[in-house]
Amino acid sequence: MRKYVIMGVQGSGKGTQSQMLRDDLDLVHISVGDIFRWHVRNHTKIGAQVRRIMAAGDLVGDDLVEDVVRRRLDDHDWNFGFIIDGFPRNGRQAEFFMESYDIDAVIHLQLTDEEVRRRVLSRRLCPNCGMDYNLIADRPEEEGRCDICGHELVTRADDTPEALEARLRDYHEKTRPVLELFRRKEVVHDVDGRPPLEEVQQAIRKTLGLPAYRTR
Ligand code: AMP
Repeated sequence: MRKYVIMGVQGSGKGTQSQMLRDDLDLVHISVGDIFRWHVRNHTKIGAQVRRIMAAGDLVGDDLVEDVVRRRLDDHDWNFGFIIDGFPRNGRQAEFFMESYDIDAVIHLQLTDEEVRRRVLSRRLCPNCGMDYNLIADRPEEEGRCDICGHELVTRADDTPEALEARLRDYHEKTRPVLELFRRKEVVHDVDGRPPLEEVQQAIRKTLGLPAYRTR
C-alpha cells in the first residue's frame, strides 16, 4: 500500500505526474480540483457553492474540502494506495489529514513563479474529453481543436492572470507552511519540475525507490 501526496504550485505538472504513477502502480488518483470541476460541470449543489470561488482562483472553505476528501477516501477503492493532488493546502487541512491517514511520502514539484505564469497562461483544455494542451510545449495539431475528439479547446476558467496571481499568493502564504510541516516529518521529496514530463517522472521514481518508468 502506497500513500502519497503531491504538492506544487499550479502548472507544476501535479496532475500529469500523478496520472503516470497511477497508471503504472494501480494507485487511485484523487484530485480535489477535478472533483470540484466535476460538480461545476454537472451543476450539483456543491458545484453551485464552489463555482465562483474557483473562477476567482480562491480556496474553497475547509469544511467542504474535508468533507469531499473524507467521502472520497471512505470509498476504500484504493487497495494498492492513492496519490492525492491539490490537498492539503493549508495548516488546518494538513492537521485533519495527518490525524486520519499516515502518508509515505510527499512529492514536491519545484517551479519558479515566472515559469508557472508562462506555463499556466498557455494551458488549454478539451472540455469534452479532458485532454490537456500547452501552446508552448504541447500544441494541438489543428489550432484550437482537440487532437483526440475534435472538440473546441477552452481556457480553464481559473487560468486568467488575475486568478493565477491569487493562487500564487495563496500557495506562498498558506500551502508553503504545509510543506514545512511535512518537512519536519521527513517525508518530503523535492523534485525539479522544469525538465520534460518523462524526466520528471523518472526523478520521482528514483527518489521514492520505485521501478523506473517505461513508455509503452
Ligand atoms: P486545482 O485543480 O488543484 O488547481 O484546484 C482548482 C480549484 O479548486 C482551486 O483553485 C480551489 O478553488 C479549489 N480547490 C482544490 N483543492 C482545494 C483545497 N485543498 N482547498 C481549497 N480549495 C481547493
